[in-house]
Amino acid sequence: MMLNNSEMDEFVNKVRENSDILSVISKYVSLKKRGNQYWGCCPFHNEKTPSFSISPDKGFFYCFGCHTGGNVFNFISLYENVSYFEAIKMQAEKLGIPMPAHDKKKSPAELKREQDMKMLIKINTWAKDFFHNCLIMTPYGENCRKYLESRGISKETIDNFNLGFAPNLWDKLSTSFIKKKMPSLNN
Ligand SMILES: [Zn+2]
Repeated sequence: MMLNNSEMDEFVNKVRENSDILSVISKYVSLKKRGNQYWGCCPFHNEKTPSFSISPDKGFFYCFGCHTGGNVFNFISLYENVSYFEAIKMQAEKLGIPMPAHDKKKSPAELKREQDMKMLIKINTWAKDFFHNCLIMTPYGENCRKYLESRGISKETIDNFNLGFAPNLWDKLSTSFIKKKMPSLNN
């Protein structure tokens, strides 16, 4: 089941706000303060003079030798060789910030919306097929087929792009839907 986005954003923001890049990186790299920045030997390439810097106030690290840089999660992800999201989760665990629950029950309104969306996609697919078939299989589409041919549009292109033709009959699509016993979205 998917988490809803705002919950996930909130979680990520909370972990970010509570993650001090300096204290995280200093566990891996020995650092010395110079000006507003902290310097150490880069853990991502071999070097003897420090070109790896951290700007704690900006929350970024950057190496002038190998140009690796980013925020605290980028660092963890690179150092521990895990995905960006795994890095967030690792950091959350260390900070004791719980992940939003995975198995949150969907409300009836959410379920209804999901069902409606599925039905809308189905209806659109049916409509697309209907107009496509009008073009390629029925006498209604004959003039249109000739026109497309004269414009150099091949049968293959018509199929690939699912081109369709709407006959000049206002109730054709709805009649076909009624025949298919398409359910209404309002019930
Ligand atoms: Zn480097």
